[in-house]
Amino acid sequence: MSASGVQSAALMGTLVTIEVVGTEPGGEAERDAAISRAMEWFRRVEKTCNRFDPESELRRLSARIGQPVTASPLLFEAVRFAVAVAEETEGAFDPAVGAAMEERGFNRDYRTLQPAGPFAESSGPKTGTFRDVRVDERRKTLTLLKPLVLDLGAVAKGLAIDLAAQELQSLRNFAIDAGGDLYLGGHNARGQPWSVGIRNPRDPGEMIETVEVSDGAVCTSGDYERPAARAEDGHHIIDLRTGGTAKDAASVTVFAPSAMVADGLATAAFVLGPKAGIELLERHGADGLIITPALERFATRGMTDHD
Ligand code: ADP
Ligand code: MG
Repeated sequence: MSASGVQSAALMGTLVTIEVVGTEPGGEAERDAAISRAMEWFRRVEKTCNRFDPESELRRLSARIGQPVTASPLLFEAVRFAVAVAEETEGAFDPAVGAAMEERGFNRDYRTLQPAGPFAESSGPKTGTFRDVRVDERRKTLTLLKPLVLDLGAVAKGLAIDLAAQELQSLRNFAIDAGGDLYLGGHNARGQPWSVGIRNPRDPGEMIETVEVSDGAVCTSGDYERPAARAEDGHHIIDLRTGGTAKDAASVTVFAPSAMVADGLATAAFVLGPKAGIELLERHGADGLIITPALERFATRGMTDHD
């Protein structure tokens, strides 16, 4: 078999690696151009959805309270999905988490360390929730009814992975890895389904389970991934209903056909905790494994299909 093509870049606060197995159907040059186009989606989604950049479309939207704003397809899709998950989970998942993230010191771009702001919208408290975000499907507009800071950190990486995967679809056998969130197309260089390890959240060097995946996404939310600046603030997944860090899960891994769905549901199930989290995944026809801080495991009924 011919050599694989691999490219890596630091994007969206993580390392993105894209590998395409072999050179079929169009040869090496075409393959490498497709990988570059796939990588470009991460740049575009980052530029659009970056909470740390005053010029991003996301931040510009946040500066226009009370006015319907026509959104690009990228921003519209990410906000529409995030608000839908928020409605379904009654605010356990809430993309209006941005102000709470800033208060906890998550106010710098992970990569450039640029602080967020100051922003035009920065005067006064930002108390809005997802209930203050109007999504108009017909006009493709978004309206913020109250001051709030949208944070799409729970879904944007997944959206970028899905767009990159579409770009590579004709090449069939490929792997997209954005800091452990994955889309795996076809098979690996040995002609077998891709194999994904689920880590022990309390000893991330150790694998708890290995799962085979072909043509699907796998996303994990773990409390070990991004600690807050102050140790007492815990990690990067917040339960806005209590104002504290979500504590009922240590990690959630979700398998779904779409990476945006897997990414969003992993964060949502993390906040909901094992019981309601598993119910959420099953309602969406997704599979997953929730590991609690005591290392108890809760799996969807379909999980065994992946073994
Ligand atoms: P990562 O892959 O960066 O570890 P996750 O998919 O686990 O991210 O999502 C965590 C991110 O989601 C946080 O960094 C923050 O941007 C956002 N977030 C935190 N709490 C919530 C919440 N309750 N609802 C929606 N988004 C959240
Ligand atoms: Mg997520």
